[in-house]
This record gives sequence, C-alpha cells and structure tokens, in this order.
Amino acid sequence: MIPNLPTPHLKFRTGSWRTARPVLQAGRCNNCLICWLFCPEGCIQREKGYITIDLDYCKGCGICAHECPRQALKLVEEVVPGGEEGETSA
Ligand code: SF4
Ligand code: SF4
Repeated sequence: MIPNLPTPHLKFRTGSWRTARPVLQAGRCNNCLICWLFCPEGCIQREKGYITIDLDYCKGCGICAHECPRQALKLVEEVVPGGEEGETSA
C-alpha cells in the first residue's frame, strides 16, 4: 500500500497562476502509479483504488501526462472560476 503522505512541497499552494491542469480519463487508467512517481509536487494520490490529483498544489507542469503510458491523463487549459471556457487564470 502506498501511503498518502504530505511532502515538503505541499507547504506551497499553487495560487492562481497555473495555466493548465491534468484531467484523468479514468477508463484508461490501470493504476500503475507512474504518475505518482513522477509528480514533483507529490499531489497525486490514490483513494479507494482511483487516482486523485490535489489541484491546490498541482502546478500544471504536465509531467504526469507525459509519463503516463496509457494516455489516461490529459492536460487541459485552466479556467478561471466563474470565467468563460478557455479563459486562463494567467
Ligand atoms: S500513469 Fe496513467 S495509467 Fe498509470 S496510474 Fe497514472 S494515470 Fe493511471
Ligand atoms: S501537472 Fe505536474 S504538478 Fe500537476 S499532478 Fe501532474 S506532475 Fe503533478
């Protein structure tokens, strides 16, 4: 079992500058946890058998999506809460 331990990185919330966020396509994911290994922010966790991403700490770097062998993670443009689709927070 892999514990969901906070890392030192989790002291630093992302704020509003992220321009992209990863979205999981759960049907493609086989829970290999390669994304968990590569995420530099330690914000990927597994809850009840599913991958979750803590977007309070995700920086939108896209490493998880790049390393996922099943293309289960897709990087999409960030949207300002209450903003128009495609409107970024940057
Ligand atoms: S790397 Fe891809 S397939 Fe593996 S756990 Fe992460 S999202 Fe799922
Ligand atoms: S985009 Fe970067 S920070 Fe966010 S979950 Fe993926 S690897 Fe981690």
